[in-house]
Amino acid sequence: MQPNFDSWDLTPVAIPVRSRLHSIEPIGVGTPFVESLTGYMIRLAAAHAVRVSDLIEHELRASIPYFHSAAKIPNAINGVNENARNWVSTFERFTLRDNLQLLTLLPFASLLKTPCLIRRERAWCPRCYESRRAQGHDVYEQLLWSLRPVAVCPLHNTPLENACPTCHRRLRPLRAVSRPGLCSRCHQWLGSPQPPTQQGRQTDYQTWVAQQFGQLLEIAAFAQPNGKENIQKVLIGYVGSFSAGNRSAMAEAAGCRRTSFCSWYKGASTARVDLLLRMCHELRIELTSLVTGTIPMDPEAVARAEVAMQARRRCGVFPQRNTDQIRAALLLASEEQPAPSISEVARRLGYTTATRLYVADSNTCKLIVRNFNESGRGHWWRKRGAKFLDDSVIRRALDESLALEMPLPVNRSAKSLGFETESPLTARFPDLCLAIKAKRTNVQVARRIMAASALKAALSEDPPPTVEQVAARLGYASRNTTHIWEPKALGALGNVSRRNIAPHSQFQA
Ligand SMILES: [Zn+2]
Ligand SMILES: [Zn+2]
Repeated sequence: MQPNFDSWDLTPVAIPVRSRLHSIEPIGVGTPFVESLTGYMIRLAAAHAVRVSDLIEHELRASIPYFHSAAKIPNAINGVNENARNWVSTFERFTLRDNLQLLTLLPFASLLKTPCLIRRERAWCPRCYESRRAQGHDVYEQLLWSLRPVAVCPLHNTPLENACPTCHRRLRPLRAVSRPGLCSRCHQWLGSPQPPTQQGRQTDYQTWVAQQFGQLLEIAAFAQPNGKENIQKVLIGYVGSFSAGNRSAMAEAAGCRRTSFCSWYKGASTARVDLLLRMCHELRIELTSLVTGTIPMDPEAVARAEVAMQARRRCGVFPQRNTDQIRAALLLASEEQPAPSISEVARRLGYTTATRLYVADSNTCKLIVRNFNESGRGHWWRKRGAKFLDDSVIRRALDESLALEMPLPVNRSAKSLGFETESPLTARFPDLCLAIKAKRTNVQVARRIMAASALKAALSEDPPPTVEQVAARLGYASRNTTHIWEPKALGALGNVSRRNIAPHSQFQA
């Protein structure tokens, strides 16, 4: 009996397209610990049991424009440049994967600039290597490790290593014989359960940077290509919310140059990554909000920004004011008691000089200056660090001086009280100062008359005394005070005594 068979379906089976290379799954996509493109290349070579150089020379080379040498492939292919784009598209063509750009910083090409972005040498976290191997997972190179600003592992919070612990050599990111987790020179294992030797040197800033880049890599798949606009959007939001529209104040708060800040603010250029990070850190802006263009206005973020601005305000940065606001502040200051100085008012308003105040209202400024000078609180003529003196102290000092047989010069009293000049004393106690000056003049005239008669008498003596002897008779300790004597008589005495007495050549009249 003839058996009955089902009829065969002779339509051709649709065989999926085969990839030229193993289509191995990239590790850690969508997490901070995503694999790098160089790391993927190393694993791909290992999956084919060939050297990296063989994979490149025999398979990939022809597809890469301007390719020179397998030994000179830098970490930059993990970055944002055209070379990274070429490598990504080549790998995607050979593995039939469509998400390999997530192994580079290409999703953030509109936000991040190349300078200072990518490390030239290989860096790694020995504890990440070790824990992957201990758990039986594939060891791989993380994209974070190839970023120059990232100096610590955000998972273990320990510094990244960049020298082999066995041969102590620094390693290129990619070599002909690179293998995941192994030194490409001595082929020893780079992982370690122990923290690296530089443990404890990481700063809060480094930890923050590592975490920020980690968060950035997490959202790489959703990044929009409008970096400049988003930086601009966020900065406009911050300037509007926290510095009353003053860009300069916000630039100060961000610790960056005004020209750079204004350039980002206007959307004219993207920021160099180190400057961008510094600004974000100072203003407590999350790097991810620059990608999404959203300003996190949750209470925590607002409080962080407020704290950042207050810290800067203590350094003298205040919001901009228009002319009416300045005028109102000046009017208040002009009625203030005790009267403030104009520079003090300027400082309060956030200016380093009073120029802006004079432009706003010069008359009120002059009134403030007059009030301040009249108040006697001025300190521009006080020596640096001198304490404030009560008028009674100054008066007592002047009274004591006047009571002396020969009062002290007013400027010397002023100096001993901590003033640079005598004008604060003459302004406050004009009569007392005049009396001191008059008494000094009288005493000096009387001394001159006395000295003149003593000199005359000395000239008639035989032998004549020396100038020193006459000075001693008059009660002067030395000849130095003789300048106040009558010059003619003094000269005559000097000549006579030199001729007759001794060779006092040093006593020239
Ligand atoms: Zn780690
Ligand atoms: Zn080594």
